[in-house]
Amino acid sequence: MSKENKLYDVAIVGYGPAGVTAGIYAARKKLKVVLLGEFPGGEVRNSGDIENWPGDGETDGNTLAEKFVGHLKLHDDTVDIKQELVSKIVEGEEGEFELTSRDEVIRARSVVYAAGRHPRKLGVPGEDQFKNLGVSYCATCDAPLFGDKAVAVIGGGNTGAEAVIMLKNIARKVYLLHIEDTLPADPVLVENFEGADNVEIIYRVKTTEIKGDKMVTGLVYEEIKSGEAKTLEVQGVFVNIGAIPNSDPVKDLVELDKYGAVKADRYGQTNVEGFMAAGDVTDIRDAQIVVAAGQGSSAALSAGNYLARAEK
Ligand SMILES: Cc1cc2nc3c(=O)[nH]c(=O)nc-3n(C[C@H](O)[C@H](O)[C@H](O)COP(=O)(O)OP(=O)(O)OC[C@H]3O[C@@H](n4cnc5c(N)ncnc54)[C@H](O)[C@@H]3O)c2cc1C
Repeated sequence: MSKENKLYDVAIVGYGPAGVTAGIYAARKKLKVVLLGEFPGGEVRNSGDIENWPGDGETDGNTLAEKFVGHLKLHDDTVDIKQELVSKIVEGEEGEFELTSRDEVIRARSVVYAAGRHPRKLGVPGEDQFKNLGVSYCATCDAPLFGDKAVAVIGGGNTGAEAVIMLKNIARKVYLLHIEDTLPADPVLVENFEGADNVEIIYRVKTTEIKGDKMVTGLVYEEIKSGEAKTLEVQGVFVNIGAIPNSDPVKDLVELDKYGAVKADRYGQTNVEGFMAAGDVTDIRDAQIVVAAGQGSSAALSAGNYLARAEK
């Protein structure tokens, strides 16, 4: 594997709102920047309708993601964009960071790590076997495939609620299964589907199996109080039970919390000098676009301050 001779000032990992904002801020500081990110726009692209990004009123994930990417590309004279996955980041011998991507090692004096989160799995029989054969983790991507079918949405948080809102206009029947006796989703979302003819909310249950032959044909759940097992005939299962930080490439480098999120202060500084983190991969409370973008700006400014101090 080749090691790049070029030494960047800042390497940004992540092409979502946190990484893109960090890129824009670092470029405006005239730093030499590389941005490595697998999925342009990040989770924004999967976000469906977006009504809480200031200045846009109502927009949708694809449109906003394209705007983010377009804005970053205004700086492509100073920001090298590489649509690649980073598998590991270590500290090099001369205090710089080494980022291993598909076929090269990239060197940078500082890092803004903004790799987001990925969906948590149910961990039940049938889940892996029927992934993309009826099991989905992204309603925005897959809801249109379930026209006139019966589907189950697992998890009653905001992401689950948004899945129900999308699916109720496409699927014949939508079951929403939740483990507790109230839905934690924002009331403004729940009122969109509560009482809808084709939506049934099933409380206090946990999913124990996904059944199928070539494709999903059903779901088995257990009533928590009675222990009774019941089966739903569904052709789709949308899993929305939280997310796991994409911190694997840095797990031996920086301090993580018990959920695997990178611990960072409000300026994005981690326990490693010169290594900043931002957005959903960190131990923030609110996984939101505007929060991730704000953190991305702070982290890039922290990287700039770190580099300025290092030069004195
Ligand atoms: C269905 C859904 C609906 C949502 N709706 C809203 C909403 O209406 N309003 C709102 O404010 N928020 C919403 N969110 C949350 C919002 O999308 C996230 O909070 C936000 O995108 C987080 O930004 P981020 O930059 O931290 O991470 P992400 O957007 O997750 O971006 C992470 C980036 O890192 C890249 N990456 C990951 N690992 C690596 C690696 N090893 N190497 C290189 N690149 C890597 C990814 O490809 C991606 O480009 C929604 C989320 C979902 C899932």
